Amino acid sequence: MNSLLNQAFDPAQFKAAGYGVIDLLTAYLTQQPERKVIEWKTPDEMAAFFENHSSSGPLQFLETVIQHSIQLHHPRYLGHQVSPSVPIAALAGLVSDLLNNGMGVYEMGAAATVLERYVIKTTAGVMGFTPAADGFLTSGGSLANLTALLAARAKKIPGSWQEGNMATRPALMVSEEAHYCVERAVKIMGWGQNGIIKVPSNENFQMDTRHLPPLLQKAKQEGTTVIAVVGSACSTAAGAFDDLEVIADFCRENDLWFHVDGAHGAACSFSNTYKNLVKGLNRADSVTMDFHKMLITPAVTTALVFREGSDAYGTFSQRAHYLWSQDQEEEWYNIAKRSFECTKLMMSVKVASIMQSYGLSLFEEYIDTVILNTALFAELLTEKGFELACWPSCNIICFRYNPKRALQEGQVNQLMENIRQQLLEDGTFYIVKTSLHQKTWLRCTLTNPFTQRQDMEQLANRIIECAGG
Ligand SMILES: *Cc1c(COP(=O)(O)O)cnc(C)c1O
Repeated sequence: MNSLLNQAFDPAQFKAAGYGVIDLLTAYLTQQPERKVIEWKTPDEMAAFFENHSSSGPLQFLETVIQHSIQLHHPRYLGHQVSPSVPIAALAGLVSDLLNNGMGVYEMGAAATVLERYVIKTTAGVMGFTPAADGFLTSGGSLANLTALLAARAKKIPGSWQEGNMATRPALMVSEEAHYCVERAVKIMGWGQNGIIKVPSNENFQMDTRHLPPLLQKAKQEGTTVIAVVGSACSTAAGAFDDLEVIADFCRENDLWFHVDGAHGAACSFSNTYKNLVKGLNRADSVTMDFHKMLITPAVTTALVFREGSDAYGTFSQRAHYLWSQDQEEEWYNIAKRSFECTKLMMSVKVASIMQSYGLSLFEEYIDTVILNTALFAELLTEKGFELACWPSCNIICFRYNPKRALQEGQVNQLMENIRQQLLEDGTFYIVKTSLHQKTWLRCTLTNPFTQRQDMEQLANRIIECAGG
C-alpha cells in the first residue's frame, strides 16, 4: 500500500473521507442565519488566496472550497436561475461520478441509458406530447438549443450536412429578449448576422408576434430562407413567456420549425397551477428544458425533447465505426448518435433519483412555492414604492428604486449598478441585475423555496437604505 495509486483508490480511505465530506455538507445544509451567501473576493484576490493556501488534507481542502463558493442553499440567495440541488440528487451525482459510465454507447452506461429514456419519456408526457416524442439529456440549455437548431436545419435544408448551407442563406426568427445562446448557435452554424432576425418585444417583454408576418415577408424579399422560429419560455432577463400558441400557428402556416427555448420555464409543465404559462408547448417541434433551473437537479442536466422523436436522428449524419456498426439505424439506446456529446455525464441518474424518491409531486411543490413567493415579493416591493419591470409570471422578477422619484433615468440606472455591487460585496444577499428596454433593473430569481417573507422584507429595506432612503 505504498504507491500513490494504491492510496488514491483505497476503499477504506474513501470511506473515511466520505463520511467526513457528508459531515461537511450536512453543516453546509444546516444554514446558520448569520452566514453570508457569498464571501466576496475579487478574482485576483481569490486567485492569490488559493495560490497561498495549503490544506492539511482533502477534507480541509473541500471545506475551503465550500467556504469560497456561492451558497445556493442559502435562503438569501436570490440571484441567477440555477436552483439549489436536492440532496438525494447530489448523492446520485456522487455515485455516478465514481462509476463514471461514459454513456456514448449503450454498454458504457446501460442503467443510465435506460433511465434517460424513462426521464425523457416522462418529461415529454408531462409536456403533453404523444408517445412519438423522444429526445435525450444533454449538457446545458445552450448546447440543447444548438442541437435542436441543427436538427431543424437537417430537416428543412436536406443535404446541408454534406454541402453546407451557405447557398440557402438560412435564418431563424426569435425575440430580441431571447437568451444570447440562440444568436451564438446561429453564428456557429455559419448563418451570419442575417441568420438571426430579432423580433421586437412588447411592454411585457414577450415577443410581439404581430411582427412575424412582415419580418418573414421582408426576409423572403431579401433572399433569406427562414427555417425556424424560436419561442422563449421564458425569457432569461424578465422571465417573460412568449405566446406559444400564436407562434405555433405561424410556424404551421409557413412550414417552419418551431423550437421552444424552455430552459427555464418549460418546467412549469410539471405544475397543474402554472402549466398554462406554456400552453402550446406540445405543438413545438423541439423543446429545451433545464432540470438545473426550476427542477432542483444538479447542473448541468438538460432535456431536449422532439415532438417527432425520429427528427433527432437526422441531426448528425455521421459515421463512427468504432462506436456503432449500424450507422443508419435509429438505435434509441446508443444516445451519442443524437447528442453532441460522446462521453456524457450520467445525468439521468440524478433526475431519476428525485423521481424515484419523491415522485413528480416534488417538482410541482417546488414550482408552486417559488412562483407564489415571487408574487409575494412583487406585492411587497410595490408597497414599498419599487417599480416593477412587469408583474412576474414565474420566479424571475426585475425591479428598480427611485428614492422619492427624484432621480433622472440615467441616475437611477447608475444607482441600481451601485446598489447591486454593494450587495455583492456585503454578501448578505445575492441578487443580480439586467438591462431591459434600455433601463437597468435589479433582478432576482426566487430559486430557493425556503426564502421567507422576512428575507424579502430585509432585502427590500437594505436596498432602500443603500439608495439613501
Ligand atoms: C439559462 C438559459 C439558457 C442557457 O442554459 P444553460 O443550461 O445555462 O446552458 C438558455 N435559454 C434560456 C431561456 C435560459 O434561461
